Amino acid sequence: MIVLVGFMGAGKTTVGRILARRLGVPFRDSDVVIEQRAGRPIRQIFAEEGEPAFRDLEHKVIADLLDGTDSVLALGGGAVQRADTRDLLKDVPVAYLRISYAEAMRRVGGDQGRPMLVRPDVAQLHAERDLVYAEAATVTVDAGTSPPEAIARDILTLLADAEAS
Ligand code: ADP
Ligand code: MG
Repeated sequence: MIVLVGFMGAGKTTVGRILARRLGVPFRDSDVVIEQRAGRPIRQIFAEEGEPAFRDLEHKVIADLLDGTDSVLALGGGAVQRADTRDLLKDVPVAYLRISYAEAMRRVGGDQGRPMLVRPDVAQLHAERDLVYAEAATVTVDAGTSPPEAIARDILTLLADAEAS
């Protein structure tokens, strides 16, 4: 199991698919599983039930996925906000894909499917989450300047080093 965290646009999906292929395990994305379970897009869950209800559902989905078959698991960008969800990650290798706010906006600034983008304080959110991601992570990689294949390789190298020490 490898869990990927980071701000939207960091490349969790892109790098996660590469990692999963290399390791020969499935790639899972908590946001996708939430949408399947709820039968609605995340944007609609946010609009209809609000963020706290969405975070409850997210927590349950992540707990189930961590309990299930070995995979590379990308978490929604806001999943680590909740202490009880962070607690689920304590004994799992977690890679933080770190990206600047400017680069995140270059990559996903126009994406309608990302509800956090409508928040007026999204820059501040990025700054706050940086600390939380780093704290939750076993390893942190620069995900803003190199191609996805190189980032995947960095993650595997750093996690192997972390495990050996
Ligand atoms: P996340 O799942 O973390 O929100 P995605 O994997 O969906 O991020 O990537 C967001 C966008 O950025 C996509 O268009 C993707 O192709 C692009 N992208 C991801 N990683 C990189 C990278 N290392 N270099 C350049 N573009 C990237
Ligand atoms: Mg993604």
